Amino acid sequence: MPHVLVLNASYEPLGVVSMRRALILVLNHKAIALEDAGTTLHSATSAVPAPSVVKLTRFVRVPYRGPVPLTRRALFARDHGRCVYCGAAATSVDHVIPRSRGGQHRWDNVVAACRRCNHTKADRHLADLGWRMKRPPAAPSGLAWRVIGTGIKDPRWRPYLEPYGGLDQFRDFEHHDHTELPPAVPSPVRTRPVRRGEQHAPLSA
Ligand SMILES: [Zn+2]
Repeated sequence: MPHVLVLNASYEPLGVVSMRRALILVLNHKAIALEDAGTTLHSATSAVPAPSVVKLTRFVRVPYRGPVPLTRRALFARDHGRCVYCGAAATSVDHVIPRSRGGQHRWDNVVAACRRCNHTKADRHLADLGWRMKRPPAAPSGLAWRVIGTGIKDPRWRPYLEPYGGLDQFRDFEHHDHTELPPAVPSPVRTRPVRRGEQHAPLSA
């Protein structure tokens, strides 16, 4: 079942709910559909277009918004699903300052990484390896991250979320939803790590 983006009456993104929950909001006149999902939902007595984006009819005051929760999904979204060291598809979470050396599990110390870089780096510091990052990791900000952080994506949400931050991440929507990921691009700041045995392939298996 697809999910539905919920906007405040002020158009501020509030979060993502199930289709069922969104329909209840619309049927009870608590929300109006701004964007259809392109399908129709049938009940015993009626048929309604399935919404993709709904807006609350009354403004809801949201008292406090803490930092974006650090989850694997949110982290991969921040780093575009790419290894920050080499640009290959990310498969793991790396602590820049290794946990064994006192590094913390915080937005400014975690990055998405491929298995190979993670394995090569192990419990060493970047300086030990001569590796650099294009920019230091930081916590994402902007209300759109309430939605990006869930990892749930729908290209129809893009125009409603773009004004609230995370613009780069929305470009990823198209890649993930409609095409295969592009081939890995080697990072210009560092050459790809060369594994032992790679330069001299065995002549026979
Ligand atoms: Zn890598």
